[in-house]
Parts: sequence; C-alpha cells; structure tokens
Amino acid sequence: MRLHAGARLALLLARRSLSSSPRIPRVHTGIRSEAPSRSSPFYPPSSARRSFHGTRPVAARDYYDVLGVSKSASQAEIKKAYYGLAKKLHPDTNKGDADAERKFQEVQRAYETLKDEQKRSLYDQVGPDQYEKTASGGGGTGFEGGFGNPFEDIFGGGGGGGGMNDFFRNIFGDRDFRGRDVKVALELSFMEAVQGCSKTVTFQTSVTCEICGGAGVPPGTTPETCLSCRGSGFIFMQTGPFRMQSTCTKCGGSGKTVKEFCKACRGNKVVPGRKSVRLDILPGLDNEDTIKVVRSGGEDPDGRPGDLYVTLEVREDPVFRREKGDIHVDAVLNVTQAILGGTVQVPTLSGDVVLKVKPGTQPGQKVVLRGKGIKTRNSPHYGDQYVHFNVNIPENLTSRQRELIEEFAKEEQGEDEKDAKAAAGASGG
Ligand SMILES: [Zn+2]
Ligand SMILES: [Zn+2]
Repeated sequence: MRLHAGARLALLLARRSLSSSPRIPRVHTGIRSEAPSRSSPFYPPSSARRSFHGTRPVAARDYYDVLGVSKSASQAEIKKAYYGLAKKLHPDTNKGDADAERKFQEVQRAYETLKDEQKRSLYDQVGPDQYEKTASGGGGTGFEGGFGNPFEDIFGGGGGGGGMNDFFRNIFGDRDFRGRDVKVALELSFMEAVQGCSKTVTFQTSVTCEICGGAGVPPGTTPETCLSCRGSGFIFMQTGPFRMQSTCTKCGGSGKTVKEFCKACRGNKVVPGRKSVRLDILPGLDNEDTIKVVRSGGEDPDGRPGDLYVTLEVREDPVFRREKGDIHVDAVLNVTQAILGGTVQVPTLSGDVVLKVKPGTQPGQKVVLRGKGIKTRNSPHYGDQYVHFNVNIPENLTSRQRELIEEFAKEEQGEDEKDAKAAAGASGG
C-alpha cells in the first residue's frame, strides 16, 4: 500500500527541492533580507534532480582555507572569521557581483560544517570532496554496503534511527536515487559457455520492503504539515545583523512530517534480501567475460534499480582446450597408424569426425579443421579446430609382435649398414 496521490506529490516535490538545493541540503543556509520568494521548496529550480551530479565542480575547496583559519582553530576563531567574511561578501553590499555571491555561499557552506564539531570531525577525516558528496546525498558508490551508512548518525541530527526528523533523511536525504550495483560470479561448464545456456543467479541485495510496499511508512500513514516551519520547509533566525534562513531540521525542508515510519525497513524502503535473476547466456562467451544486466541489481523504490554484473567462470574441459575462437584437441596414434597412415576418430564441438592420417605422421604434428571452432561474437565467422597428433609407443609386446619388430629392426640395420658402406666406398674412392 502506498501513500495517496497528494501525499506522494508533496513528497516528490520535497525531494526534488532537497536534491536541487546546493551541496548540503540539510544544513543549507541562505541569508536573505526578506522572506523567500524565488526559492520556496515547492517551486524548485528547473534543473532536474539528478542533474546536480553532473554539474558539481570537480574539486571542492578546503573549508579551512575558505574561512582563512588554521585546522586547529577554535570555535571562537571560526565564528569571528565567518562574520568578517560574511559581512564583506554579503549580497546586499555586493549587488550583481557573481563572484562575491559564489564566495559568500562557499563561506556559508564552510561555516555550517566547521561550527558543528561532529560535522567538522567527519570533514577532517574524509576531506572536502567526499564530504560534500556525502552531505549532498550523492554518495552512491562511494559507500558500498548500503544499510549502514557510516554518516547516518552524524547527518541525522542524533538518535540513530529514532526521531521524526530522521524520516525524511532516511527517505530522501542520504539516498542516491538508484539501487546498488551487484557483482556475482557464475560457474559454467565448457560446453555451456560454448553453446550458450539459461541460468538463474540468486544473490543477496536490497529488495523493496514488503511490509510498506516501499513507501517507508506504515500502510495508511499520511504525512502531516510540519509544526516547526508550518509547512514552508524554512525556519528563520536573527543572527547579529543578519536574518538567517535555513532549512527546517524537523522536516528536512519538505514541510511534512510523519508520526512513524515502517518498522520493518526503518523508513529505508528497502531491506536486505535475496533476489533471483534468470539469464540467457549467448553462445561463445568465455572465462572472465562479464555480462551486464541493467536494472537487475539492488532495488530502490525512489529510482531505478542498480545493475547486475555477472562474471563467468568457465570450467576446463577434459577434451577441448580453447583459445579465443579456436579449439584444440589431442589425437593419439598407434605406432603403425603413424607409420602406415590410416584414420582416427576425433571429437569436435559438433560431434566426432573421422580424420585421415597421412603415412609418416610425426608426434607433435597438427592438422587444422577450418571453421570447426567457436562462433565469434558479432560476426558470422567461426574459429578453427587444431588436432595435435601424438604417438603411443607400446610398452608390452606379445612375443609375435616382438619378433616382427626385431625383424623390422634387422631390416632397418641392414639399410643402415648399406648406407654406411656406400658412404665408405664413396669416400675411399
Ligand atoms: Zn518498510
Ligand atoms: Zn519543517
């Protein structure tokens, strides 16, 4: 059961406003001399909510540098530096100066973090880039492991999974709107890889919470107007000469709160679970090939599922060896087959074939069966099969075989002596 349409719309708008606001949505502060007009949370800028991933500057400036204080600065020093800079860069005294405005925002951002010892210590650990990524909720792949975001408590404003104001953080704040990617290995036999097959892979990932159907709140729950900000998503504070407008911490800027969230998923909308995906594996894939199955990874009710990456582990075959599109097999000949020639039965991918053996075939010689290999992907071309000959020397002979071989040996010796005499005669003159 999901939220009714009106509530869904409100949530969606709230989420968009969170995501499209600058990097630290939950602590975003802007100084304005009058009430907000152009940045009401329910009228987000036209930039799509995912676009900020692409527009984020390459590297964030160090917050201490921004404020011009040392890393060991006290809170009093930080505060003093901030007031100095804020006064100098304030938009009211720098009308139309885009550079000043940008700096002003940088200063705001730096101060919002450094004035809070918890945030400051996190920032000190991870540095500006990772910090902003995490704080903006765009962390995504930066923190694998999904269910225990290490920054949850720090950004949650306390209470690890408890209070009302965690609701929108869990639902919107720290989540990338995309399920997790999953990587699995799949073992195939040699022939399964060559001929293609269907397989089902089962793996552990995040699945939509069945209890709340991915809503994050118990069935039938309707968000209520936030009492702290009366639904505006903003609160105002008078700080020295400035009127500070900041995102309401109670509702995370959405203007809505709920009494409780789903107990099964703690508002995460997803829970750890098992997922099975059926794969049609094309013929000709090889060991270590990876198949990407889009949208078959971890679930995310707010966005698209992650992708699934299946890496093949192809078992060796006792008969066939593979080298890209080519196949290699061994064929063992009897001594007489090798000497006299004949035929031998050889396995191929499409069944046994009878192969002619030339008289006088040597161990290590090979023949090529054109087009008897594996079909090359994205091409009508097939690889070749190589048959490598080896010769089996008998270890135990019957007495009759022995006689014959000895006869053969005498004949061979006679030939050798004749050759030797001829050579001697030739040299003697
Ligand atoms: Zn749930
Ligand atoms: Zn509020």
